Amino acid sequence: MNLTLFSAQPYDHIYFTPAAEKAGITIQYQEMPLNETTAALVTETEAVCVFVNDQVNEKVCAQLVAAGVRIIALRCAGFNNVNLEAAKKYQLRVCRVPAYSPESVAEHAVAMILTLNRKTHKAYNRVREQNYSLNGLLGFNLFGKTVGVVGTGNIGACFCKILLGFGCKVIAYDIAKNPAIEKMGVEYVPLEEVLKATIVSLHCPLTPQTHHLINEQTLAQMQPGVMLINTSRGGLIDTKAVIQALKKGVIGYLGMDVYEQEENLFFKDLSNRLLEDETLQRLSSFHNVLITAHQAFFTKEALHEIATTTLKNIISLNNDHNLPLQAAILV
Ligand code: NAD
Repeated sequence: MNLTLFSAQPYDHIYFTPAAEKAGITIQYQEMPLNETTAALVTETEAVCVFVNDQVNEKVCAQLVAAGVRIIALRCAGFNNVNLEAAKKYQLRVCRVPAYSPESVAEHAVAMILTLNRKTHKAYNRVREQNYSLNGLLGFNLFGKTVGVVGTGNIGACFCKILLGFGCKVIAYDIAKNPAIEKMGVEYVPLEEVLKATIVSLHCPLTPQTHHLINEQTLAQMQPGVMLINTSRGGLIDTKAVIQALKKGVIGYLGMDVYEQEENLFFKDLSNRLLEDETLQRLSSFHNVLITAHQAFFTKEALHEIATTTLKNIISLNNDHNLPLQAAILV
């Protein structure tokens, strides 16, 4: 069978090609993202494989069906960029990789906390320039601090376990409790209380309910100097409100692996161009903001799991079998 893989990066070739050969799938790699313009590139293919910034709206669904596509395989966990209602209407089957390596994202969130707190990124540069001064590098112990977690699914639960290991008090908010982490000592509290923690980390999906969860009103409920970490989706945060909070010192540290307007920026080398996004430019100018370009998932283990599970999902849907992981089928 044929598969067109959009937003292809060199590492996608490395992990997908051998697995596809074994599975008898021929992949056509497209570097471009899938959207209304590029959907025209799809011909003679039963399945398309998309990533976090491909836009699968109703018009794209119609174009895909007209080109003979029957399966949309997300090679990620989040699916906010696919219009599931439209996919259902056009009888497109949609699958994702619900839990390829929750540790990869949870560990990156912890890396952001440690970097922002202990300023190892600054120390690295200083020492290389023979500046051995410690001024400005003061951190705090994580031990004994309260960490607030929004969303305790696969990634949030993993994040909670790591922070419990640091000796933190972990409080959480979720619309569905996870008894396994409650047993480990995580306490579920209302969202308002989670927002009062020393560190707040977001691990819920982007939905209409969570869009701009962090906004002017919720920022006003936070402790002055809070550390806010977002490895989930950019749209959870109202970036303009966060910039105001950074200017006022309400946010003491900000770690973001995702950005509301990342679609035309992240996963690309734009180092020879002027950055036209003034919001991202402003964010980058704060000394207490750490931005990574959607790399939390980027480990060898995660890429291997993403490739093998995506291809298994496609074969299973193509053969009309039920997938082993029911949660992998979206429609
Ligand atoms: P998951 O589905 O296992 O867990 C999500 C949790 O959020 C669930 O427990 C759910 O009940 C909870 N939730 C849903 N709506 C909520 C709300 N309104 N308020 C509070 N909690 C709510 O998903 P996961 O695998 O843990 O992934 C979480 C998110 O992380 C994904 O949706 C995706 O956006 C993001 N992600 C980012 C990267 C990255 O590289 N940065 C990689 C993978 C996933």
